[in-house]
Amino acid sequence: MLSLLAVDRRGHQLIAFEAPTTTLVACAVCGCWAEHLPRNILLQCAGTKERAGAQALAKLAAGRHPTKVGVRVGAGRPFEPVARLVLDGP
Ligand SMILES: [Zn+2]
Repeated sequence: MLSLLAVDRRGHQLIAFEAPTTTLVACAVCGCWAEHLPRNILLQCAGTKERAGAQALAKLAAGRHPTKVGVRVGAGRPFEPVARLVLDGP
């Protein structure tokens, strides 16, 4: 699952996870992720995982939301090009 990646210009290797009401995007390298508001995923990839990033990726790989108890996510898939354009900006 975590091998299905798209690389953005900040070095993140992005994977999309479907959740019941939204799509989460996570970086397989540093573990930053976004659901509604992108924050760290708009910054340059750190190139390594902090503890929180590693925990988020472990939960996503297990089909669990990184912070919401009981919310399941689907298998990771390559990030969609249209959404990637929004993250990359002008
Ligand atoms: Zn990253």
